[in-house]
Formats: sequence, C-alpha cells, structure tokens
Amino acid sequence: MAAVETQSPVDALQKSLGNALLTSASPAEDLAAATAVFNGFIPKRKPEEIVVATGVADVMAAVKYANAKGLKVSVKANGHHWQGSGLREGSLLINLEKLKGVRIDVEKKTASVQPGVTAIDLHKEVSAVGLYFPGGHCPTVGISGYTLNGGYGWNSGHVGSASDHLISIDVVLADGSFVRATDDNEYADLLWAARGAGQGFFGVVTCFEYRLDLLPRGITLMQSVFPLDSAADVIKFWNEKRAELPSHMEVVTIMATGPTGHRCTVFLGVSFADTEEQGRKDLAVLEDCPVQPRLVHDVHPSDVYEIWGILDKAFPKNWNMNVDVAVVPFEATTDMAASLAEHFKTSPSPLDHVLFAGIGPKAGSVKSAFSPEGNFEPAVYVGCYGIIEKIDVGKEQEVVDWTVKGQDLVWPHAVRGYVGEGRQETAKLRRCYTPEAWDRLEELREKYDPARLFLSWLAADPTFVQ
Ligand SMILES: Cc1cc2nc3c(=O)[nH]c(=O)nc-3n(C[C@H](O)[C@H](O)[C@H](O)COP(=O)(O)OP(=O)(O)OC[C@H]3O[C@@H](n4cnc5c(N)ncnc54)[C@H](O)[C@@H]3O)c2cc1C
Repeated sequence: MAAVETQSPVDALQKSLGNALLTSASPAEDLAAATAVFNGFIPKRKPEEIVVATGVADVMAAVKYANAKGLKVSVKANGHHWQGSGLREGSLLINLEKLKGVRIDVEKKTASVQPGVTAIDLHKEVSAVGLYFPGGHCPTVGISGYTLNGGYGWNSGHVGSASDHLISIDVVLADGSFVRATDDNEYADLLWAARGAGQGFFGVVTCFEYRLDLLPRGITLMQSVFPLDSAADVIKFWNEKRAELPSHMEVVTIMATGPTGHRCTVFLGVSFADTEEQGRKDLAVLEDCPVQPRLVHDVHPSDVYEIWGILDKAFPKNWNMNVDVAVVPFEATTDMAASLAEHFKTSPSPLDHVLFAGIGPKAGSVKSAFSPEGNFEPAVYVGCYGIIEKIDVGKEQEVVDWTVKGQDLVWPHAVRGYVGEGRQETAKLRRCYTPEAWDRLEELREKYDPARLFLSWLAADPTFVQ
C-alpha cells in the first residue's frame, strides 16, 4: 500500500496563503512595497515574514500560521503611524493595505469600511451621498489605525471621535477565529478596547462599521496670519472667546514659517455649519480679534478638501518627521504659547511647526479606552512637529532634539497624552489612558491573547529603539 503523504500544519497554511506570503526570498521590490511607511524616518525593524492579505481568509490563515511557526504578529494597514509601528523585528507582519472596500447604507447612515481605506477615500464615498465621517486632519490618514487610536478628526468636537462612531468591528482573534463585536453581544468588551487601544489592540480588525453624520453644507474657513510674537495674545483671545463658539467650530493656532521665510502665527477657524450665512456668523466672533498687526485675513466658503490641503502641505509624505503631543488645559496655553514661540525661533527646518488645536469630548460620547471620551474637560492638543526633507542629511537629529525640547515645555502641564501621535515612551504611553482604562485593557489582553501573540504598543516592546 502506498504511503499517504501528510502535510504539516505550517505547510498547509503556507499553501493556503500562496502568493500572499512574502519571505526573505521574495523579490526585494515586493518586500519594500509591503513594508512602506508614511514617515521618511524608516524604522530599521524588519519583520521575518509578511502576509499581504486580500481578504479575511488570508488574515485568519496568517494568524494560524504565526501560531504554528511561533512568530509574534504585527499589523500594518496604511502605514501612516508616525513611527511605523507595524514594523517589528522578527514578526509576522499582516499587511492590510489591499482591503479597500467601502459599503454605505444611505438609509441607515452607516458604512462598513475595510482597514486599507484612507480618510480621503472614505470622504469621497460618503460625501457623494451627502454624508460625513470625521476622518483625520490630513487626507492621507489611514482610517484603521486612526479609529483604533480613538481618532480625532475635523468637527469631532461636535460629532464625536472616530471611535465614537464605531457600531461594530469584525475581528480575527489570536486563535485565528473570526468574530463580530457589537455593544450588545458577548464581545462588547472587545469593541470597548478597539475604541482607543491603538497599537495595543489584541486582534486584527478586518472591517469597521460606522454611523455617519450629515455632510455640513456651509463649511466656512477663516485664515488670519499674525507675527510670531503675537502667538500668546492670539491664544489668549481664543481662550476668552471659546465659550461663545458653537461646538461645530474648530479652532487651530499654528506657529509656522511663511513662504517668504518669516516665522508667524496662523489662526484658523473652521465652521462646520449647515449654511454659509451661519458659518460667517460663527466666524465673526474670531474676526473680532484685536491683535495687531494682522498680516493676512480672509474668510470664505470652503470644503473638507480645502482644509485638508492646508495641513497636507505641512506633512509631505516620506519626509523625515518627529512628533510629540500632549493634551493641556486651556488655562496653561497662554504662557506656554509665549515660551513655545521663543522655542520656535530656534527650529532648524522651515517645515517645523507648533500646533495648538482644541480637543474635547462631545457631550454624551460613548465610553471607551480612548482618553478624551468623558475623561477630561475640553482642552488643547499641543504638538511640536519636526519635519525635514530627506536630502537634509545630518540635520535629522537636530530636528528630533528640537521637538523633544519643545514638548518638555508642554508635558509638565499635560492632563493626558494621545496614543495616536505621542512619542513612544513608556511614561508617556501610560498617560494616554486613565489608570482604570489601562488596567481594563491589560485584563482584556489576558482574556483574548493570553500567549501574547500580538505585539503591543511600540513603547511596551522591548526590541524598540527610538
Ligand atoms: C500627517 C498625520 C496626520 C495625522 N492626523 C491625525 C488626526 O487628525 N487625528 C488623529 O486622531 N490621528 C492623526 N494621526 C495619527 C493617526 O491616527 C495614525 O497615524 C494612525 O495609525 C493611522 O492609521 P494607519 O491605519 O495608517 O496606521 P498603521 O501605521 O497602518 O498602523 C498603526 C498601528 O495600528 C494597529 N492597527 C492598524 N490597523 C489595524 C487593524 N486593522 N487591526 C489591528 N491593529 C491595527 C497596529 O498595531 C499598527 O502597528 C496623524 C498621523 C499623521 C502622520
């Protein structure tokens, strides 16, 4: 009798993954494409193998394959994380960028979205049918990691964060099984964790179901420019007026370098009103700003693409970027603006900037692991962004040092960090969560991933080097 050839589980899974599996023997260009990230500071960390998934079945097989081979799993969707957190030394990387489906239910105002979709992809689809989702402040932000971080986008102060819009998630768990988590089923705790765990999530989300809002029809933009030394006065004025501003208005103050090389204070107000008339009325409160001289001033009807365009220029893909942010109370911002304006005068690169953006929980937000939801009063998100073109070799460390020194002026006042954008340091990571949320995340990790198959936050990864 002929011997029956048996296949090992690893061989069988390898076969089922087929061309989706990349190893060190795969063509260099395929490996480079599968590990590409947004930031030009490309991490040296190299995954052992990669699965470029084309569907849920690949993700399930990849997780089982990692278990069978004893590999840890890391995940990359759009690779937009500032420090390329999906790239981990020796891991099996599950790459989700090919999963780009969007299905909208216009009647229910919901969308089912796969993890390879970006903010601009989703906006294009939902706005075509008069709907809105608060994607990130830049069009290139990947919807997947963004939502897991909590996700604070344009008009989130009014409509809520991305995680606040989450109705359900489809997840591949650590044993390779596939579940759907909703607020009302046995996986409600998994959905809670997905609303803010960020890189610390213990599963692979293959679909996000969101509720959608109506597209605001009267988006109106105010752009004012003042000298850099006016930054503290502009922020003081914003503080004085904020009680008069409707929740559908977003205010951002940026210390930046203008086209002629002058450092300045840019004061942006965006009203997500339903009519232009209302938008102009909202912005009139900010137009009263008495700070002089006002170098540029303009108010006009706008749209999401235009406001994205302003910030998109500030973050050119593949430039070297170093970022740190913290959330501080409004009361701390005026003095902080004065010291950060002095610090900004020393910034080494023309694209460096300092950002102050209003952030706050929408009343009645869904409780989640994401820090702002019900965990602090409206506050200001302050970040130093060090950005330098790749050709400026040798200046990179200067840019990093400038960012870190700037945030040293901010962190002593912080009420919270933000896991989506902060520098990956253990102490800062802990401050992205309330102690209760942190403990609950760790309990759930033990429940859903007792063998720690999924690599967690970069700051908690012993192989991570800044
Ligand atoms: C220019 C710029 C602007 C930004 N603006 C904003 C903003 O306005 N608001 C805001 O909140 N954030 C913002 N961010 C941060 C943003 O939230 C993160 O960059 C986010 O990680 C992007 O998502 P991604 O899918 O591309 O992430 P990736 O880099 O692909 O993934 C990051 C990590 O998330 C986890 N992950 C991602 N997808 C999955 C999944 N499906 N299942 C399991 N784990 C997963 C993995 O651990 C992965 O390592 C910005 C970032 C940049 C660079």
